[in-house]
Amino acid sequence: MDFQFTKEQTDIRQAARDFAEKEIREIGHDYDQKEEFPKDLWKKACDLGFVGVYIDEAYEGPGLGYLEAAVIMEEFWRVDPGCGCVLLTAFGSELIQNYGTEEQKKKYIPPIPKGKAIMGSAITEPDAGSDIFGVTTSAVKDGDTYTINGTKMFITNGSIADFLTVYCLTNPEAKSRYERYSFFIVETDRPGFQANKLRGKMGIRASDTAEIVFNSVKVPKENLLGGKESRGFPQVMDLFNINRVLAASQGVGVSQGALDLAIAHVKKREAFGQAIGKFQAIQVKLAEMATMVEAARILTYQAAWLIDHGKKDPKLIAMAKWLAGETGVRVADDALQMHGGYGYLNEYPIERFYRDAKIVEIYEGAKEMEKLTIAHQLLGKF
Ligand SMILES: Cc1cc2nc3c(=O)[nH]c(=O)nc-3n(C[C@H](O)[C@H](O)[C@H](O)COP(=O)(O)OP(=O)(O)OC[C@H]3O[C@@H](n4cnc5c(N)ncnc54)[C@H](O)[C@@H]3O)c2cc1C
Repeated sequence: MDFQFTKEQTDIRQAARDFAEKEIREIGHDYDQKEEFPKDLWKKACDLGFVGVYIDEAYEGPGLGYLEAAVIMEEFWRVDPGCGCVLLTAFGSELIQNYGTEEQKKKYIPPIPKGKAIMGSAITEPDAGSDIFGVTTSAVKDGDTYTINGTKMFITNGSIADFLTVYCLTNPEAKSRYERYSFFIVETDRPGFQANKLRGKMGIRASDTAEIVFNSVKVPKENLLGGKESRGFPQVMDLFNINRVLAASQGVGVSQGALDLAIAHVKKREAFGQAIGKFQAIQVKLAEMATMVEAARILTYQAAWLIDHGKKDPKLIAMAKWLAGETGVRVADDALQMHGGYGYLNEYPIERFYRDAKIVEIYEGAKEMEKLTIAHQLLGKF
């Protein structure tokens, strides 16, 4: 067992850290307040090769792994989770890379790491989130065309994306519910496509989130992912497995960032004649926080490493996502507490980290869903 990063991985972490400190630290507060996607930052991140690092060289990506993607995500989120969401502009490219036809891969993937297109993945609906079998957005075939009708909810990059992978009901009559769904690649400039940006999010406010309405949107059969119907369910499960690791790395990043802020604050802030970091009650709390962050980090790296080595482990992935999400929320809470009243002011970044952390417990599967995945694997069929 080797817990050492390679030289290349160490360099990637350093480059991501330097970039985040130089380009993100200063703008985080502003974009949070504006609730605006930082387009210039996204461009710069693409130019330096940080977006979609797991995209194969054959499709003009860096050809790295999910461990490297997790490390970059962690470093961006450590500095500012909202702006760190520029990395989510490749969300769904894994689907196309793993399941698309060669034509789809060549057409849709290369613009993503190059900063020429933004994508997202639309699965959730107003009445179907955790219950994925409740999805009703339909795609009905007529000759060489599919017509899509329905509404998707909470879609990351929904109002800024050039195209989305959209999870649709294609075979409602199929005996097995696992064979009723298919993914489509849908360009956002097609007639009948409408994106309504959702404002007033609690956290990651620099990330774009939208409701999407498909009003008889027509796509050619060439846009059916992989060219075959009824494959959507295993594909979406695979997408979740990969992206839960990246969500876990967000939890690691936000908790490390909050811990950094707490450490800096307790060294400076004085009470009862000394820096509050000298009180053992504070020191004990810091030790607990740091230990939780490290545990979440190790689980996350292991889950990512296993994917990169062809041994994807849904149980471990679910454990990493749950633990890292909960760690983010707890550590941000403790870190804010150490800031006292100042932590309650939005000019202090810890206030933003506290709000941003919560999302990891909700998206890519609410934490209860992760626990159910773990339990199912533990119990098996009985
Ligand atoms: C900012 C943001 C960005 C998002 N981005 C995307 C995106 O890009 N694409 C996309 O498709 N979706 C996206 N989502 C949606 C997200 O994945 C869902 O919100 C999430 O899966 C939960 O679904 P829900 O909101 O419908 O909650 P529900 O499914 O209604 O769940 C509500 C609560 O009930 C619990 N619950 C439900 N069923 C059970 C059960 N069987 N046992 C125990 N507890 C249960 C849940 O765990 C949760 O705590 C995003 C959401 C947000 C907030």
